[in-house]
Amino acid sequence: MEPQRSPLLEVKGNIQLKTSLTKTSSRLPLPGSRIKRGASQMEDALEPEKKRSRGLGAANKIVTTRPRVPPLTTVSQIQGQATAQKVPKKTGPRSSTAVPSVLKNQKPVPVVPAQKSGTSAAPPMVAGKKPGKRPAWDLKGQLCDLNAELKRCRERSHTLDQENQQLRDQLRDAQQQAQALGTERRTLEEELTRVRAQAEQGQQELGNLSARVLELEERLGTQEGLVQKLQKEQLEWQEERRGLTSQLEEQERRLQASEAALSSSRAEVTSLQQEVAAQATLLEEREERLHGLEMERRRLHNQLQELKGNIRVFCRVRPVLPGEPTPTPGFLLFPPGPGGSADLPTHLSLFRSDERRATLSGAPAPTNRHDFSFDRVFPPGSGQDEVFEEIAMLVQSALDGYPVCIFAYGQTGSGKTYTMEGGPGGDPQLEGMIPRALRHLFSVAQELGCQGWTYSFVASYVEIYNETVRDLLATGARKGQGGECEIRRAGPGSEELTVTNARYVPVSCEKEVEALLQLARQNRAVARTAQNERSSRSHSVFQLQISGEHASRGLQCGAPLSLVDLAGSERLDPGLGLGPGEKERLRETQAINSSLSTLGLVIMALSNKESHVPYRNSKLTYLLQNSLGGSAKMLMFVNISPLEENASETLNSLRFASKVNQCVIGTAQANRK
Ligand code: ADP
Ligand code: MG
Repeated sequence: MEPQRSPLLEVKGNIQLKTSLTKTSSRLPLPGSRIKRGASQMEDALEPEKKRSRGLGAANKIVTTRPRVPPLTTVSQIQGQATAQKVPKKTGPRSSTAVPSVLKNQKPVPVVPAQKSGTSAAPPMVAGKKPGKRPAWDLKGQLCDLNAELKRCRERSHTLDQENQQLRDQLRDAQQQAQALGTERRTLEEELTRVRAQAEQGQQELGNLSARVLELEERLGTQEGLVQKLQKEQLEWQEERRGLTSQLEEQERRLQASEAALSSSRAEVTSLQQEVAAQATLLEEREERLHGLEMERRRLHNQLQELKGNIRVFCRVRPVLPGEPTPTPGFLLFPPGPGGSADLPTHLSLFRSDERRATLSGAPAPTNRHDFSFDRVFPPGSGQDEVFEEIAMLVQSALDGYPVCIFAYGQTGSGKTYTMEGGPGGDPQLEGMIPRALRHLFSVAQELGCQGWTYSFVASYVEIYNETVRDLLATGARKGQGGECEIRRAGPGSEELTVTNARYVPVSCEKEVEALLQLARQNRAVARTAQNERSSRSHSVFQLQISGEHASRGLQCGAPLSLVDLAGSERLDPGLGLGPGEKERLRETQAINSSLSTLGLVIMALSNKESHVPYRNSKLTYLLQNSLGGSAKMLMFVNISPLEENASETLNSLRFASKVNQCVIGTAQANRK
């Protein structure tokens, strides 16, 4: 039911209230321009209030309380509430559709107390009905009503202004809240972004950690394998340790047993030491005696050598070689000595038919017998060992400090080289005097070592050809040619002689000696290609310097051992004519003859005790100076051919040897210091 319109509405257009209200409410930003309404609408809005006030019987009572808008209520919320409170009925085209809730919640507009009935201005009231219109004539009453109405409107306007102000305040609060909330939202959004970034980072880290975990798990697997292996090894070690421990225990047991044995042995040792001391004294005495005996042996040995003669001559006849003519039986005879066949041969008889006398007389050629006797005669077939046996004692004299010199004299092809160096093929049975002599010296020196003697040996090997000296041990560039060597005294005032440019090689065993002999053979072979059979035209001198020392007794001895393979002693047949190459040969022969005759002269001079011994007349005698003479022992092999065709040369050699054999050189003196 449409409420009854107030009479005030009748004069609405006459007053400016509407304008002022519109102006006031237009400043509000709220939608719908809810404040724009007419006085009648306000009246309508006030009507229930008024009714309530009346209903309560407290018309003058102004309800001032209203619910406060919660501080965080947003504008939209406010708007929402306002929309919900819309009044469905439109009251006019320019009025708002509803009064916002905020307005409802505002303090109720103070109601102007109605004028009491009974006053003159008030129109007469019908019970339950609005007062009726004043009569037209009651202008005063109407004016009074209008004034009252105006007054109410003004009050209402004032109230609305207040409400408007409140709403603005609320709006400002709401805006501030909205701003604060916006700020807060931004902060929260930033925080959210940060948290998301953190979350992403966390995710990434999680991924990394997962990978790491996987890796560690893998490693753990490997480590577990390793641990298992180590455990296995540990078990093995433990097993081994147990084994070792048991071994150790066993060893300890043995040690204890050994210690027990040791202590008993110690006692034994003590007694043995005493015995040893006694033995040492005895040994010392014996050594002393032995030394005395050794010296005695040397003296007797020397005496024996002297008795045998300081110069001895051995004759050696080589066998007939395959392809050579067999000599007439009885050409050479070896008659037994005074002792019969048991005696070793010392005699030799050569039977030679005197063709010259036979031709002259016409009778059958008489046979001439030539007898010779030497210290020993070795018929063909005598072995190298047999020969050496005879010279071993002589060689040994060199260790006692006596110079020893052994020659091989004879025509070419008579067996000199065979005797001195040995037979072909390196057969030990065929070894000559040089390797045998050195082996013997090394072995005796070793034996004497037990008596306190120490020996050293230095070897040299030279060749004298046409009065020039050449080193047979030369190696490298000088091999085969050998720069010229000179014989010089070892030092000023020294008796010792040395060969310049020649090698002096220390030797201590047979192998070293064999190597030197091999080298000499090579050197001679090279020379042979240059000059035919030069080796037979030259003297080969192997010398061994022996030095012995008995340190504890302060004894020293030293002497040279010389082993000489002389040049062929054959002479040139003066009846032969000299060809172009023969001149050189003649010169060689003269040199050989000269040196060999010088050797003979030196021996003679020594034998005759002449004041001058012509050592210097040949290189050979000069080089051998210290190996000949007073204190030296000499041995000459005269090598002869078994062939009849060589009878003449054989006779020459035998005659030369006989002369030497007749020489007696003074008592040999050992070179002792
Ligand atoms: P030389 O040195 O005096 O010229 P060799 O020693 O060269 O003589 O000997 C000449 C040849 O006779 C060589 O073939 C050698 O082997 C041989 N010969 C020498 N003496 C003997 C011997 N006692 N037994 C066997 N053969 C020998
Ligand atoms: Mg020879």
